[in-house]
Amino acid sequence: MSSATRVPCPTCKKAVVYSTKNPFRPFCSERCKLIDLGEWASEGHRIAGKPAVDEMMSGDLEGLGSPEE
Ligand SMILES: [Zn+2]
Repeated sequence: MSSATRVPCPTCKKAVVYSTKNPFRPFCSERCKLIDLGEWASEGHRIAGKPAVDEMMSGDLEGLGSPEE
């Protein structure tokens, strides 16, 4: 009755048994887990460090700030 649920490892796409016996679920191994977390963290830093919204905001403010020209 206990059919093992298998999920693809997010890092290497290998089928992983998703159970409480697997401490790295849904990853197949600690290595894949660390790789995925590392990519996630670097992505977060990239987004957080890029002031894309501020640039857009200041651009709008400049356009609106000089109506007499
Ligand atoms: Zn993997």
